[in-house]
Amino acid sequence: MKFSEESFRKTTIMSAAGQPIPVGTIFCGGRNYRKHIQELKSKDLGEPIIFTKPATALCQNRESIPLPGQSHDVHHEVELAIIIGKTGKQIPQNDSHTYIAGAAAALDLTMRDIQSQAKKNGTPWAIAKGFDFSCPISKVYPITDLNTLAAVDLFLEKNGTLVQQGNTANMIFPIDYLISYLSGFFTLHPGDIVLTGTPEGVGPIQRGDVLTFWSSFSEKVDIVFT
Ligand code: MG
Repeated sequence: MKFSEESFRKTTIMSAAGQPIPVGTIFCGGRNYRKHIQELKSKDLGEPIIFTKPATALCQNRESIPLPGQSHDVHHEVELAIIIGKTGKQIPQNDSHTYIAGAAAALDLTMRDIQSQAKKNGTPWAIAKGFDFSCPISKVYPITDLNTLAAVDLFLEKNGTLVQQGNTANMIFPIDYLISYLSGFFTLHPGDIVLTGTPEGVGPIQRGDVLTFWSSFSEKVDIVFT
């Protein structure tokens, strides 16, 4: 068997201090804010909905993103992203915070029409959630304090109008619970990313739209969709 040089390359994202962070798995929690569950007329199932995105979904410092041609209803979801700093399995909730290396603002771009069809058919969300460039992310900031992370403001503007605004205090499943829950199924590794769900205000993106997203601790990220 022969593998090219490139096959040994790991996706990296940058910290605010300019340090490259090799990325592992991108875990995402869904239905974590009550008002978002209401706006999509979804059900609160009493435990987190978990899905993953491949590393190819990540993009940082990318000025434009092509909208996938298969969807007519790609939605923005602004979320707090947690970056895992050490390996762990079956992590107790009260020890979860020691696994946090940093945080970022991110988008969980979703092909809503394809996701709705998948929900109807009982098929996976992999395509609807994991397509190329479906996870734009800001630089990573070395914030590890759980109290700080539990009171982060999230913002998203579409063409200069604020359309999403939320606060992580309104999560149904808090960050330490999510880390503990995930680690019951998956061994977590340094560089794994946990997206923690979106507050209300999700909506469609058209070609030519400019999205700006940020959090109370992070830079503003501008992306134009083509
Ligand atoms: Mg989401």
